[in-house]
Amino acid sequence: MSTKYVYTFGDGKAEGKADMKNLLGGKGANLAEMNLIGVPVPAGFTITTEVCTEYNKQGKDAVVEMIKDHVEAAVAETEKAMNAKFDSKGEAFPLLLSVRSGARVSMPGMMNTVLNLGMNDETVKLIAEKSGNEHFAYDSYRRFIQMYGDVVMGVEAEAGEHCPFEQVLDKVKDAKGYSADNEMSVEDLKGVVEDFKAVVREKAGKDFPTNPWDQLWGAVCAVFDSWNTERAILYRRMEQIPEEWGTAVNVQAMVYGNMGETSATGVCFSRDAATGEDLFNGEYLINAQGEDVVAGVRTPQEITLIGSQRWAERNGTSEEDRKANFPSLEESMPEIYKELDEVQQKLEDHYKDMQDMEFTIQDGKLWMLQTRNGKRTAAAMVKIAVDMMEQGYFDAKTALLRQEPNKLDELLHPVFDTAALASAKELSKGLPASPGAATGQIVFSAEDAEAWAEDGKKVILVRRETSPEDLKGMNAAVGILTERGGMTSHAAVVARGMGKCCISSASGLVVSGKTMTINGVDYKEGDFISLNGSTGVVYEGEVATINPSLDGDFGKVMDLAEANTRMYVRTNADTPADAETARNFGAKGIGLCRTEHMFFEGDRIWKMREMILAEDVEGRKEALKKLLPIQREDFYGILKAMDGFGVTIRLLDPPLHEFTPNDAASQKEMAEKLGIDVKEVTEKVESLHEFNPMLGHRGCRLGNTYPEITEMQARAIIEAACDLKKEGLDPKPEIMVPLIGTIKELKMQEEIIRSTAEVVFEEKGMKVDYMVGTMIEIPRAALTANEVAEVAEFFSFGTNDLTQMTFGYSRDDAGKFLPIYIEKGILKQDPFQALDQTGVGQLVEMGSQKGRAARPELKLGICGEHGGEPSSVEFCHRTGLDYVSCSPFRVPIARLAAAQANLR
Ligand code: PEP
Ligand code: MG
Repeated sequence: MSTKYVYTFGDGKAEGKADMKNLLGGKGANLAEMNLIGVPVPAGFTITTEVCTEYNKQGKDAVVEMIKDHVEAAVAETEKAMNAKFDSKGEAFPLLLSVRSGARVSMPGMMNTVLNLGMNDETVKLIAEKSGNEHFAYDSYRRFIQMYGDVVMGVEAEAGEHCPFEQVLDKVKDAKGYSADNEMSVEDLKGVVEDFKAVVREKAGKDFPTNPWDQLWGAVCAVFDSWNTERAILYRRMEQIPEEWGTAVNVQAMVYGNMGETSATGVCFSRDAATGEDLFNGEYLINAQGEDVVAGVRTPQEITLIGSQRWAERNGTSEEDRKANFPSLEESMPEIYKELDEVQQKLEDHYKDMQDMEFTIQDGKLWMLQTRNGKRTAAAMVKIAVDMMEQGYFDAKTALLRQEPNKLDELLHPVFDTAALASAKELSKGLPASPGAATGQIVFSAEDAEAWAEDGKKVILVRRETSPEDLKGMNAAVGILTERGGMTSHAAVVARGMGKCCISSASGLVVSGKTMTINGVDYKEGDFISLNGSTGVVYEGEVATINPSLDGDFGKVMDLAEANTRMYVRTNADTPADAETARNFGAKGIGLCRTEHMFFEGDRIWKMREMILAEDVEGRKEALKKLLPIQREDFYGILKAMDGFGVTIRLLDPPLHEFTPNDAASQKEMAEKLGIDVKEVTEKVESLHEFNPMLGHRGCRLGNTYPEITEMQARAIIEAACDLKKEGLDPKPEIMVPLIGTIKELKMQEEIIRSTAEVVFEEKGMKVDYMVGTMIEIPRAALTANEVAEVAEFFSFGTNDLTQMTFGYSRDDAGKFLPIYIEKGILKQDPFQALDQTGVGQLVEMGSQKGRAARPELKLGICGEHGGEPSSVEFCHRTGLDYVSCSPFRVPIARLAAAQANLR
């Protein structure tokens, strides 16, 4: 490590600068930079992140010894710049300090801050005297003891008790009949200071330190210690921030917004963080310290006149009342306002991004305390980047790279009204399986969901887990909540496809009959609940939602993405409506049409069951004949909706028992329909039972054991394509064989497909172009991809199954242990959500390379859930895939991620 431990700033000079965030932390680097560009910043210094790392290795005493001289020299410089004296004995105005943490990336509220440091019984008197404001001096003193007592000395409430400092304040306020802290008199405050010291003595077992240097070292070490608090560790784990980064410590001269009517403090943004509007805005309070603005005791006022007028309108405040009691800073301190407005513009111009700033006005002088790139909503993210690009701040590439793909999700689904959400009661939290907001009445079966929806009710389907039989009910519901299942469970995958909100594996939820119990409380059919599929939180009752609009800027970002991408995006869709939705979002084709989803609608399921229960080939063929026209119609609709683009249609994939009548009532109905004995039905259903259906009789194993199924599906596809071509359209079917592990499995299927196509061409007297390809979703297929590519014209990586089989984690059961694995750090991420690039990724790379070696023009895509996840999309770009395919509502996210991957 370098031997420069401390970097000073102040008076327009600084030893650090903006690009030193790794060493100085975000806050420290920006404090230095602001000095360098002539923004007024209280002087101070930053102790580097390297010192924190050393502190964690060597401990407190060694590190204090190591940096002591450096810190003392930096304090001396700060004194000079501020014309004040730390530990003043009366020779100068006492210098008080703020001590704050500041890591490389912001870790909001995770670490410690101490303000007004340097106060003791002598300095308080000096400050009172020199400022002519005794109230301010003692108010600052009592705040300091409380903050330092809490943060550095660990004074806290016993279990079930109220904070001991607050108890003291409450006692004074009660006795005097005050409603707020700022009503306390100087005498009250002096009493509070003494009582606070007694609290410290009792709780911490030692006296409050009176020596400012002891206070300083206590606070600096407390900031370093706060790097390793439980909540900081947890936050780092969640955000994947490395342990070894450490935090910097920023020590800075205090300036005061609470020195009287010519002082104020506030926060401001160079643009609107909610809407993105290019309008300077923020809030301030006269005669207050920073925490008062956020504490909600007093109503903060708007900074600009226009903001203030808008606030009054929203609030129903008359113009007269507004002007008299809640004037803007622009009105109350016009000179300072002008300076602040110039500073905010300067900072935005300098950083070329929306800034979130803190400032204090001390006795008519403006000081900036912090600036950083502001957090923003998705709408603001899009608008600010487009506006700034058009205003000439940066080029299209930067505008695109400024987008967070996942955040776009907010723009694609209904969202909860923020005000309504603030007062909603949280019931449970589960996996955010499919985003969006939904509010409705609970139903417990797919049939009820359909029936209630038909009556015009909004329902939330609550199930232990869902199966393909629930499809129609899921479609009828506004949201889906399940007790079990992971991110690629049936409920999750289907809901995402539908663009429907879904929460799976909700904690504490038990579904039993027509009751769901959450942590001991029962909820019945018809009760209202609300789901936030983006966060996984379940709320009690109805929470109002709003429909966000896809405005012009969103379209502009998508156009930029289009112009800057190599890899294109398809969609996973099983219906013309989904295909349409995805096409509107910019999908160029279908990467996966799961044909099994087509067998559940209306009375199709009975025809399907007839096929499955058939005694022999002949029986199956009879039943398949009935299914043929239905399938043809489906494919016709989908190929038409995606006219001109490739449509990958996968042959039947799931284990057959998913279609069988599993309960007594439907078995009876089935027997009646077939005119056979119910016992026969029951026996057949039992014979289809499998111990591990996911590894059982499914995928191409069905087509290879019952070739007539493949024949029917191939015929339906080719016939539909011929019909469309006759109408002058341009269908591009791609027939995909699922779950192959050996070349022979594919070869046999290919022969059936091609010979069926020839028969249809003969019958129709015409031909259409089509392709035959396969999914690569079994490790063996990836390992032998060179052989597979001899037959396959395209590969689509089925990374759901490929992940399942590479890890050996059941997709449907992983929800039980994956959250624990992630919590314990065994896995960094759920591999069913973000592609495991080091493991599963190798199979994708190998499959691509071996496949292309055998067939250079081989078309490559991915259709597992990873196709809509940004880091996986980037991986696919690097691996050279032609396209990714994802559910319709993730298409814009994948398009953006693909463009970003291309630009990086
Ligand atoms: C896959 O396995 O990745 C895939 C897309 O197919 P399914 O999810 O239908 O098994
Ligand atoms: Mg699969």
